[in-house]
Amino acid sequence: MAEETIFSKIIRKEIPSDMLYQDDLVTAFRDINPAMPTHILIVPNDLIPTAADVEPEHELALGRLFTVARKLAEEAGIAEDGYRLIVNCKEHGRQDVFHLHMHLLGGAKHGPMLIKKPD
Ligand code: AMP
Repeated sequence: MAEETIFSKIIRKEIPSDMLYQDDLVTAFRDINPAMPTHILIVPNDLIPTAADVEPEHELALGRLFTVARKLAEEAGIAEDGYRLIVNCKEHGRQDVFHLHMHLLGGAKHGPMLIKKPD
């Protein structure tokens, strides 16, 4: 059984967050340490620790991440110029919170996607 993270408490509203959206499958809230003018996390309500733990039964919730990302990008006014969606996976992917989440990042132009050498 995977261990819960702070995201489960946010989803259950046991701790505060700047929540923008919630339905039966996913929750979206602003990242506490934004890396771009718009930085929103979209999270499946059920705990899937990493992208490496995804099963076919998760496909509905994971598809919902994209439709909610689209809606929130439109609401944030970043849909026309574009944005980046990121899912980090485990240590080499620089994942810090082990509850799978999609970052929606926009409001300014991103740099190149990959940094050749990790710091
Ligand atoms: P990752 O490195 O992909 O696991 O991203 C984790 C993200 O969660 C980081 O961008 C953090 O700033 C963000 N984060 C951690 N704790 C919170 C919190 N309590 N509320 C909102 N965002 C958080």
